[in-house]
Amino acid sequence: MSLAGREDSLSTSGKNEHTSHLADSYGRVIRDLRISVTDRCNFRCVYCLPEQGFSQKTRSELLNFDEIERLAHIFVRLGINKIRITGGEPLLRRGLPGLLARLNAISGLQDLAMTTNGFLLAELLPDLLSAGLRRFNISLDSLDGERFQKMTGRDGLPRVHTIMTMLEEAGVSPVKFNCVLIRGMNDDEILSFAEFAQSTGHVVRFIEFMPLDAGQAWRRELVVPGREVYETIHSRDPLTLLPARSPSETARRYTFQGGKGEIGIISSVTEPFCGFCNRIRLTADGKLRTCLFSAVEYDLKGLLRENASDEDLLRFIADSVVHKERGHRINEPDFIRPDRTMSCIGG
Ligand code: SF4
Repeated sequence: MSLAGREDSLSTSGKNEHTSHLADSYGRVIRDLRISVTDRCNFRCVYCLPEQGFSQKTRSELLNFDEIERLAHIFVRLGINKIRITGGEPLLRRGLPGLLARLNAISGLQDLAMTTNGFLLAELLPDLLSAGLRRFNISLDSLDGERFQKMTGRDGLPRVHTIMTMLEEAGVSPVKFNCVLIRGMNDDEILSFAEFAQSTGHVVRFIEFMPLDAGQAWRRELVVPGREVYETIHSRDPLTLLPARSPSETARRYTFQGGKGEIGIISSVTEPFCGFCNRIRLTADGKLRTCLFSAVEYDLKGLLRENASDEDLLRFIADSVVHKERGHRINEPDFIRPDRTMSCIGG
């Protein structure tokens, strides 16, 4: 672990004495914060939420907007420069555009993005754009209406097409579409998605199925490896690897010979990228998670509601991040699924 130039920030106790940036014990500098604003969702995706039988947080259990904004300021002071808003489904959180405008006003924040299933996006788009949001990742697991409904529990495909047009008209392009591939469910659509990317000029990101589903249906044999996605497309439409924007980029990005459209492949299970991870998460109920698969959480809401000072919170966050996990252990025999499901962590 190279500490050149940052000896002052780490002492042998492993505490961050000087918190100009967030670093873990492996020397990874954390710049990217995912904020989940709700654990509620209006979809029931098979790789995430069952139709029935899961509890949701009450309003008072959730961080309120003042608390989220205060924490965001502290995280940015610690060197976070990118915030992604997630859920559950973030658009279910009433008044979200107002919160985004407050986050967007934080000096030092360079990038504000949101992951959504897009079902409510059409109504809220004008307010979200006025709030300064320009980056959207929209879930799209199938290009077939019936299968879309089977995978998400909702007849939402027409709305995805509507919102795609609205975003194009608003100049928000390319749009990124997230597709979770599951063997035997939608893996026969890989080439159709490649055509979709080329014909629309948008980005399709193929995401390997991860063991975070509430129904505990995840099996290794249901994972469609990123390598297979690449070979399936490349064998018909030759792909060109695009340069990574940063070492911590999760997707390997490719474009087509025609130069129009892009695909991203996120092989978090079969080719983990944890060694370059620069991400941490804040759950809707105020827990800091240093990894998507963390078994440990750090209670920021408790500290906030005990009137901790900004300096206390800053130090607590920095000391917690030192203990960030080396990576997920999905491929290890002793892997234990986290207690929380994806809907309670956020993408
Ligand atoms: S599994 Fe954890 S360490 Fe690995 S990339 Fe995801 S958040 Fe980072």
